[in-house]
Order: sequence, then C-alpha cells, then structure tokens
Amino acid sequence: MTHILNGKEIAQKLRDSLKSEIIELKNKFDAVPGLAVVQVGNVAASSVYVKAKTKNAIEVGIEVIDHHLDESISQNDLLILIEKLNNQDNVNGILVQLPLPQHINEQVVLDSINPEKDADGFHPLNVGKLSIANHNDENLLIPCTPYGCLIMLKELGVELSGKNAVVVGRSNIVGKPMAQLLIKESCTVTVAHSKTKRLPEVCKNADILVAAVGRPEMIEGDWIKKGAIVIDVGINRIEKEIDGEKKNKLVGDVNYVQAEKIASAITPVPGGVGPMTIACLLRNTTIAFKNSNKN
Ligand code: NDP
Repeated sequence: MTHILNGKEIAQKLRDSLKSEIIELKNKFDAVPGLAVVQVGNVAASSVYVKAKTKNAIEVGIEVIDHHLDESISQNDLLILIEKLNNQDNVNGILVQLPLPQHINEQVVLDSINPEKDADGFHPLNVGKLSIANHNDENLLIPCTPYGCLIMLKELGVELSGKNAVVVGRSNIVGKPMAQLLIKESCTVTVAHSKTKRLPEVCKNADILVAAVGRPEMIEGDWIKKGAIVIDVGINRIEKEIDGEKKNKLVGDVNYVQAEKIASAITPVPGGVGPMTIACLLRNTTIAFKNSNKN
C-alpha cells in the first residue's frame, strides 16, 4: 500500500519538539528565540503565509517582531530596517516575505541579512556552508522547504544512501539546496530543469523523485518508477470542474491520482511539504538563537 506522507502530522511533531526545547532554552538563558517578520505591501498570498508563520511561531514560544511595511517603502529604507534588525538583540531570525515589490532588488535585500540571523537559509554564506559542511552539522541554517522534504524522507525510515534521486527544478530556494541535501545523504542526484531532454525517462530512473517545478500535475504516472518515493513541492492553484461547478483547487506538480497507484510513498498537496516549510523556519530561528548563545 502507498504510504501517504502526512506533512501536517510530521510538522506538528517537529513543532512539539521545538516547543519543549524552547521551554528548556528559556529556563537556561531567560530568553526565547525572536523572529522578525518583514512583509512589504499586501500581496494576498504573502499575507496568508505571514499569518500562518506568525501563528505557528507564537505557538511554539518564539517571540514575533512584526514589521508590516507600506508597498511604497524605498529599498534604502528597507535596508536600514534590516540593518537595525541585524543588530537587535531580541531578534535571532529575520524573515523577509517574498515577493518584494518590483522597485526593490530581492537579492540585495536577502544578502543584507546577517547570515547568522538568516531564518530562510537563503544567504550566500549559508548556501555555501550547506554545500561544504560536514554530513550532520546541526547548526546550519538550511532552506526550509528542502529541509522539510528531507525530514519527510527520513520519516519513512528507508535507506537513502545509494538511491537514485531526481530533483525536477533548479531554483535557489528549492531545487538546488534539495540536491545538496540528497548528495549529503549519499544519493546519486540528477537535477532536471526546463532544458532537460527526455524528462519522463529521467524521472523514471528515480528511486526518489522530488518535483519543484510550479506546473500543475505535469509529472504523470507513467513517468514514475514502480515503488518510487515521490515528494511533490509544487503548489498550483487551478480551476477544476467539480460536480458541474468551476472551483479553485490546489494541486501539486505531480498527477497525484496516477502517482498514488505507482509510488511506494507520496506527499499530498495540500498537507504535504507546505506545513513542513513553516516548521523548518521555526527550527532555523531556534538554531540561530542557540548559535548566538554559544558565542
Ligand atoms: P521556480 O519557478 O523558481 O523554479 C521552477 C523550476 O522548474 C526551474 O528550475 C525551471 O527550469 C523548472 N521547470 C519549469 N518548467 C519546466 C518543465 N516544463 N520541465 C522541467 N523543468 C521545468 O520555482 P520554485 O522552485 O520557487 O517553486 C517550485 C514549486 O514549488 C512552485 O509550485 C512553488 O509554488 C512551490 N513551492 C512550494 C513551497 C512549499 O512550501 N510547499 C515552497 C516553495 C515553493 P529552468 O531553471 O530551466 O527555468
């Protein structure tokens, strides 16, 4: 029977363990991890994410320092705020919700975050550390979505070493760091993208298939090897006719109905990778707090 990897449950487990750890940290240091959440403007999806991140953070005992800024803020004023947060003692993690308005250069803003407070793990220094660090460095700030995928894979308790892993997508926030994490697990990793030839064949070679493309249900059942583990990162909103009515529906990058019949394990959308991303953000904030108290 196919194992459905329940992201909500696995994320809850991680949050519970963070909550206990934060109680211990509070007793030891008389302080709790602080997460600065910076949102610019009012993009609806960003507001939903920020709300969920804030709620989850408060639930585990993280202090949230909220900065909701007007869309018209200049890049320079945003950089001034980040510099202030970089130096603020009760801030251990800084999250800048993307996307930023067009007049602001995202990379410049992300690069301005103190790498020790880089809750998303996107800073070039942390990206570099991920690629060269030792196998099990618990102090690293790792991009949240791929790390969440790895936790889900480990939850299965299957040997990852030596497996063929195919990651479809090579973005800086998902595909590339996912590949790095799988290399660390001694998988043989192929990274596919929009220029990859014979993609179905490449996918069919995967014991572990990670889809991070952003194309609704692109990966079909016959692209998947029998018994493969399928991690679907994609979140796509589509209109589907349900009971004669057009309704909005969230789907992944994998055709779930087809894949479920072939895979040995699969993540659903929604309720798979999504909740893990937020839980890993809280984990990074806690790690940053612990790292800052070591010095
Ligand atoms: P990007 O758009 O940054 O990257 C998409 C990648 O997919 C690119 O590398 C692109 O290739 C590749 N691609 C596009 N079309 C094809 C194709 N036809 N065949 C093969 N490869 C293709 O997306 P992200 O990595 O940011 O996100 C991917 C998906 O994951 C999205 O649906 C996003 O919403 C979701 N997501 C979900 C998260 C969660 O918490 N669950 C968090 C982050 C993202 P190329 O480089 O050649 O252009």
